[in-house]
Amino acid sequence: MGRRCARGVCERYKSRRVRLPATTPHLDVTSLFINPKQNKKTTQHERTQGLRGRASQQRLQRPHHRQQKVRRGASQSRDVRKEAEDKSRLPAIEAAYTCILRELGEDADREGLLRTPLRAAKAMQFLTKGYHETIYDILNDAIFDEDHNEMVIVKDIDMFSLCEHHLVPFFGRVHIGYIPNKKVVGLSKLARIVEIYSRRLQVQERLTKQIAMGISEALQPLGVAVVIEAAHMCMVMRGVQKINSRTVTSTMLGVYLEDPKTREEFLTLTQRA
Ligand SMILES: [Zn+2]
Repeated sequence: MGRRCARGVCERYKSRRVRLPATTPHLDVTSLFINPKQNKKTTQHERTQGLRGRASQQRLQRPHHRQQKVRRGASQSRDVRKEAEDKSRLPAIEAAYTCILRELGEDADREGLLRTPLRAAKAMQFLTKGYHETIYDILNDAIFDEDHNEMVIVKDIDMFSLCEHHLVPFFGRVHIGYIPNKKVVGLSKLARIVEIYSRRLQVQERLTKQIAMGISEALQPLGVAVVIEAAHMCMVMRGVQKINSRTVTSTMLGVYLEDPKTREEFLTLTQRA
């Protein structure tokens, strides 16, 4: 969703840009049309093809050895795909950030801002990298058969995400509990699951639910409980400016939903000392 959004911005940006004369002093038109793959300026033809044209050209130009690597392993192939996809989208996101800086009244050509659009584009790709990952990528070899049906809790998992309404951070802690049904998962993987869903544009309620549903689907446990406590920068830095407010959301599935005692046990164990 976010990706389509960014593309929309860039398409508009592109069409506005191309119509402007290349000599307009405050525009650095050439820097927008450098092909990052070959690190050379593109031809007029490529320029008029626009961002979308170049992106598809790059897909065609993907070196052969990359395609061979793809066959070596599923996760490796995903990494390669992700890397190529990120690279091909980078110029468009960078151009959009240049546009944002200018529309904010900044001089995008001053020294301190010269590489800011590129850095911001890379940072945004990192902060939304969860779109490329699924829960099965990390859980495939980490689910073990175990005759254990007592509650497992991992608490205080650090979480950093971006609010999809304002594109500013919200961050806090996640507590996860589950009751296995003959299957357990490596404990560190629960933190990885949080990472997959939080590195996207999110609302806290959906993030909470997605983590719980993900674990529930993968492990088929007797119950899953997820609680997230977070501070939202869109509330702290703007809007109501309540610095100490925390938003708490929870999702309870299975026995946590049906049995108040189990739920209480989880909530007591995850409460701060
Ligand atoms: Zn917000």
